[in-house]
Amino acid sequence: MNYKQLAQTGVRIPEIGLGTWNYHGGTEPLRAGIELGARFIDTAESYGNEEIVGQAVKGIRDTVFIATKITPRHFKHADVIRSAEQSLKRLNTDHIDLYQLHWPNYLVPIAETMAAMEELVRAGKIRFIGVSNFSVREMRQAQAALTSNKIVSAQVRYSLVDRTVERGLLDYCRATDITLIAYSPLDLGMENIRKYDRSDLLAQVASEAGKTRAQVTLNWCVVHDSVVAIPKANRVEHVRENCGASGWKLNPDQLKTLNHQIRFRQRGAIESAGWRLARCIGQRFGYSI
Ligand code: NAP
Repeated sequence: MNYKQLAQTGVRIPEIGLGTWNYHGGTEPLRAGIELGARFIDTAESYGNEEIVGQAVKGIRDTVFIATKITPRHFKHADVIRSAEQSLKRLNTDHIDLYQLHWPNYLVPIAETMAAMEELVRAGKIRFIGVSNFSVREMRQAQAALTSNKIVSAQVRYSLVDRTVERGLLDYCRATDITLIAYSPLDLGMENIRKYDRSDLLAQVASEAGKTRAQVTLNWCVVHDSVVAIPKANRVEHVRENCGASGWKLNPDQLKTLNHQIRFRQRGAIESAGWRLARCIGQRFGYSI
């Protein structure tokens, strides 16, 4: 398993971590991943499985990097502190390695949220601050609201077939030394990837590389130094396969084929603004996280 430095922190994390949204595998797949070097688990207070993560790292807590997320409806100062305490309890640990703002909140000033996040850092309850689903503009505002910490990571959707972040966010992360954590790196399942790859070029590249389609898909994602990926797998055999996506490199010709011959989607500025507006209205009327 290759490890990459998290931003400029000096802390190294595996380039393939373990996602847990919709995760129902119990502790076994997580333990299998950890044994193969995927010592980085991503969860969230809204996933309802922080206890399972806590059980999976029991006895080996110090060897695993735990990232969790706080839900936007808890972005007021007192709620941030309370959410962190509750996550710590569920995770059965005394510190969270990476605490991420799950989505922007359009109603609570970011300065209020970040002041609480910095209080948690000072108290030793969280080590690093990250964001998720923030635009470049929102990331700049979030960074400006911090007084003595740096945002170390941006968790965003990124895969071979969803390359929206290549419209600026990936470059911004590179330029500012922020680690990009790619979520849904398998586009929620290989059958979805296949829809963009009608002639099955992935199979061709995979057979050439002596790897599987999923391994090629994940390896493509982590080709950039600043990117790590967090596939989710309920099944131990999938976890093992995903860990085998690290430790080797696609060659330039294979990358060229994947980059240019497989279709992909890329959300434009207007579409992104539409999503943000919908989320903002959702938050205003209390029906979005
Ligand atoms: P994903 O990892 O792209 O895809 C998960 C699906 O792929 C599951 O059905 C899984 O099957 C299957 N799979 C895994 N490994 C496979 C393999 N080697 N071969 C074939 N199929 C395989 O989707 P995701 O869960 O949306 O994203 C991953 C993680 O990113 C999440 O779990 C979560 O931690 C994070 N995430 C964050 C956000 C956010 O807003 N920040 C949003 C979405 C996701 P099995 O489960 O049956 O093994």
